[in-house]
Amino acid sequence: MPAFAPSMQRLIGEFSRLPGIGTKTAERLAYHILRSPSAEAMSLAEAIRLVKQDNRPCSNCFAISESDPCEICADPARDASTICVVEEPKDLIALERSGGYTGVYHVLGGRIEPFEGRTRSDLTLEALVRRVQTHKVKEIILATNPIVEGDTTALVVKEALQDMSVRITRLARGLPAGSHLEFAGRAILQEAITGRQEW
Ligand SMILES: [Zn+2]
Repeated sequence: MPAFAPSMQRLIGEFSRLPGIGTKTAERLAYHILRSPSAEAMSLAEAIRLVKQDNRPCSNCFAISESDPCEICADPARDASTICVVEEPKDLIALERSGGYTGVYHVLGGRIEPFEGRTRSDLTLEALVRRVQTHKVKEIILATNPIVEGDTTALVVKEALQDMSVRITRLARGLPAGSHLEFAGRAILQEAITGRQEW
């Protein structure tokens, strides 16, 4: 079998590093690019370049945004005294899509996973503590995923805030255990927020 040209080999290599893409799919995608009109392929390359160039974490809440502070932190209509704590930007997106939440967010940047070597120092927990200390925060909603590591992470966040006069709530248990926020339906997420409980 003839070898791929070096540039094709490189593109296949890049595609196969993407999540869920095996070698066969990587080859199919690379062939697709090779055969597509030049403008289409360049547009894809440009989109990848721009997403890296224009997006950065908000210095307040760590959401990924093209502006700093992000649109949510900068919006005077949002209730800055209620902070919903999520693991990843994609969880924030899921909750925003559900509508109905008018507070602000704090993105931890992951969850505590001892077996993966991820500890609390890998999270933006200290920044959250500073936000609560320096702003008039009334409520923290723990919206980590309802899986074991998400619960552990919620507990660690709660402990970090325990000496502060802030109400701590957790999303309602309407979310099935073991599920992920990003895959939950809008109605379930809306119920989980409105039915949040002291924790
Ligand atoms: Zn922000």
